[in-house]
Amino acid sequence: IQTPLTDLEIAKKAQMRPIKEIAETAGIPEEAVEQYGKYKAKIDVSALPKKLADGKVVLVTAISPTPAGEGKSTVTVGLADALSQRGEKTMVALREPSLGPVMGMKGGATGGGYAQVLPMEEINLHFNGDLHAITAANNALSALIDNHLHQGNQLQIDPRRIIWKRVLDLNDRALRNITIGLGGPAHGIPREDGFDITVASEIMAVLCLSANLTDLKERLGRIVIGYTYGKEPVTVRDLGVEGALTVLLKEALKPNLVQTIEGTPALIHGGPFANIAHGCNSIMATNTARQLADIVVTEAGFGADLGAEKFMHIKARQGHFSPDAVVIVATARALKMHGGVPKQQLKEENKSAVRAGMPNLEKHIDTIRRFGIEPVIAVNRFISDTPEEIREILQWCQTHGVAAAVTDVWEKGGQGGLELAELVIKQLNKPNQFAPLYDVKDKVVNKIRTIVREVYGGEEVQLTDKALKQLVDIEQNGWDALPVCMAKTQYSFTDEPKLTGRPEGFTITVREIIPKLGAGFLVCLTGDIMTMPGLPKQPAALNMDIDTEGNITGLM
Ligand code: ADP
Repeated sequence: IQTPLTDLEIAKKAQMRPIKEIAETAGIPEEAVEQYGKYKAKIDVSALPKKLADGKVVLVTAISPTPAGEGKSTVTVGLADALSQRGEKTMVALREPSLGPVMGMKGGATGGGYAQVLPMEEINLHFNGDLHAITAANNALSALIDNHLHQGNQLQIDPRRIIWKRVLDLNDRALRNITIGLGGPAHGIPREDGFDITVASEIMAVLCLSANLTDLKERLGRIVIGYTYGKEPVTVRDLGVEGALTVLLKEALKPNLVQTIEGTPALIHGGPFANIAHGCNSIMATNTARQLADIVVTEAGFGADLGAEKFMHIKARQGHFSPDAVVIVATARALKMHGGVPKQQLKEENKSAVRAGMPNLEKHIDTIRRFGIEPVIAVNRFISDTPEEIREILQWCQTHGVAAAVTDVWEKGGQGGLELAELVIKQLNKPNQFAPLYDVKDKVVNKIRTIVREVYGGEEVQLTDKALKQLVDIEQNGWDALPVCMAKTQYSFTDEPKLTGRPEGFTITVREIIPKLGAGFLVCLTGDIMTMPGLPKQPAALNMDIDTEGNITGLM
């Protein structure tokens, strides 16, 4: 048997079209295209014709995944190519990869096999510099805060109550908790600090949720960085640096245009994780794609309990659009995991475990239906899946009255997604019944409880003493009428990663509630979810190399 090519080998063999041509296909006028080399561009949205289309939004989500990912990006790209093949004017909107997973475990975020966005290496490594600009803006703010303390602390900021942290776009657990300002009076005011990964930064969320440059500046100004000795909130506007931060982010706010292997235009912009942040690409990218194409295929991170929930409650609300169709990606391997099979045995055939894992998918289907949308299941087929396992999944879907198609986009590109495309188009032709599950004006605890019950299938929510205290402050400051952004493990509906499948009757413990006024949500930390991940024992970095000609190997 021939070993299949790696994602990188397939990407390298693909023939890219100049980005100018891709822009032309998408209807983007030349004056709006700012080229970054031959195959990448940023789009100046102010130079776009006002309304070319009113694109419908297809959200691709998944069942609770295995650590390897179930193929959401792959299916997103493949479905878009399939829709293009059927003659639909389609665009992809995806998140930008973070170097954390690239160097760590999960790999990149550019799809896989014959359903990829290109140039794959560049998108996965640094891309057009947006993540670095976000890191710089975030850390400029940190430096300005510490300088304010050092220069006399006019605002009376309590160094023990600064909630703004430094960031780095890498998995680096050693930086989670640090002490800064050591070395005497010339070296600043000593205090405890810590690093988050860039994709968890509020600035990433702000960039992803901003409608334009003015909105970006407004939001940056609203960010709360900490509290005074008198416990009054201190904002970026109080420090007077929202203008400087916006300057650093000016170019990063422009969506990036690239192409799929089959030449479908793709906007890749912003990249918050869905377990520790809101998990969706930028509103600018999605709304620009809606303006240009009839169908926009986009993705939200991890399972429907995380990315999709936040897509519905945070992104769609702030972006003023309603999702029109939802695809849930399911794989035999993830179903087997939920059916109790250990990681090492996921490649072995096990029909009964597939069946036993179905309740996990069933809950995600139930969730999407609660939002008023009838989901379509994409069974993402892997070479190791047996026909019996695939039949088991399809039969279950048929018995439960949910539309499902096997997708072979990883192996065949758009051709392998035509049946899925047909099911999605059927769904798009139905009237939109979308409705959020909670009212943002409801009490914070009620909003969390609604998510726990309706999205996770659990019973109750419990707040630690620390979270309760924070909630009192949040209510006193009048910040409670914001949506919540749950930070929760992606492996389980509960806050305990090992509880796979579809647990019931559980309680979710919220240990901290952090106001993110720039982003416009309240982050609720559950379990031991970390906003700075660590590297695994065998990081992906160990497989990477480059030869004297600059050819990279081992990058996915
Ligand atoms: P997600 O977006 O859900 O995290 P990705 O689309 O990034 O998942 O896919 C994760 C990895 O799995 C990628 O390396 C991709 O190449 C691989 N992959 C996805 N679908 C398949 C498939 N059907 N067969 C083999 N590998 C696949």
